[in-house]
Parts: sequence; structure tokens; C-alpha cells
Amino acid sequence: MPHSHPDWDGGWLRQAIRLPSPNFGPRPAQACIDLIVVHSISLPPGQYGGNAVQELFTNRLDWDAHPYYQQIRGLEVSSHFYIRRNGELWQFVSADDRAWHAGQSHYRGRDNCNDDSIGVELEGLEGEIFESAQYDALSVLCRMLAHRYPIAHVAGHEHIAPGRKQDPGPGFDWPRLQSRLDLPSRCFPQFTTPLRGQ
Ligand SMILES: [Zn+2]
Repeated sequence: MPHSHPDWDGGWLRQAIRLPSPNFGPRPAQACIDLIVVHSISLPPGQYGGNAVQELFTNRLDWDAHPYYQQIRGLEVSSHFYIRRNGELWQFVSADDRAWHAGQSHYRGRDNCNDDSIGVELEGLEGEIFESAQYDALSVLCRMLAHRYPIAHVAGHEHIAPGRKQDPGPGFDWPRLQSRLDLPSRCFPQFTTPLRGQ
């Protein structure tokens, strides 16, 4: 009998709502999946609770449904995970596979962070704060990922694509996440002043 893991079905987390995206590919052979990339997204920006993000990640978004979508028309992207404002966890791509969330990027001495990272989108907006339920879900997710993959770094999209991306932005409380994980501070980006401390 093959060993059945209680939390994982291959690279799929059992507790997540599974919505497979066509936007993925294989990782390079020998990829060391040691980085979690935290993002924020909402569609239209700042509007929460709809299904547009899930539609975007599965190439089903109606580009004519909102003027903002003209800016992203035809975009084919994905993330491994998505955490809604209430903490609900979705998964679109097996964490064993390569999702399309990072774009041109560089971190811990390596380019093309899609190759060897796991992307987690938080429903939110750059500059806005995030919900306690999202920190709870993200902390649990990071712990589960660290059990399956050799996670050594957690960073924001803004840290792996500086100047090009700003998410999750200054409203994300990095010390709060760090305090919930068993990872030393060197695993996290150099902190800018957290919003909570201001
Ligand atoms: Zn991002």
C-alpha cells in the first residue's frame, strides 16, 4: 500500500478548495522549492468577495465585465494558493508544479522565481491591511508547506521583483507572520516599518 499523507494529495493540500488552473508547467529538474512568495490581489482592485480572481486564474474572466480588466486582458497567470478575506483557502496548481505568479524576478541569488517557489495570493490591496483570518490561514499553510518542501525563505512579490511589483505592500505585517512560524528572521525580507508599529 502506498503511504497516504493526511494533509497532502501529491502537491495538493487536502484542506484547500481545489480549482485546477491550466496555467502551469513542470518545474525544472532538480528545482529546490525553498521560497514562499506572498502576493495580494483583488478584482476589480479593492473589491472583495467576488469570484473574479478564481476566474482569472482559470482563464474564465470576462474581460468586458469591468473597465479595469482592459489592463489585464488576455493575461494568463496563476498562483498555487489564494486566501480570501475570511481565511478560506483555494488551490489552483499543484505545489509540485510551476505556477505563473512571479514573472521576471530575482531572489536569494536566483532568477525566475516561478521555477522554485510557491505563490500565495492574499485577497487584498497593496497598502491596505489584511485580516486576522488571513494571517491564521497563511501561517498554517506556510507550516504545512515547510513540512513538505525545504522552505528557507518567505518574501513578498515586492521583494523578488522590486520596482516592478508592490504587493503585498506596507499593510502586510511581516513580523506578525514571522512570529507564527518556526523560521529564523534571516528567512524573511529585511523589514520595512510595519503598519502596526506606526
Ligand atoms: Zn504579486
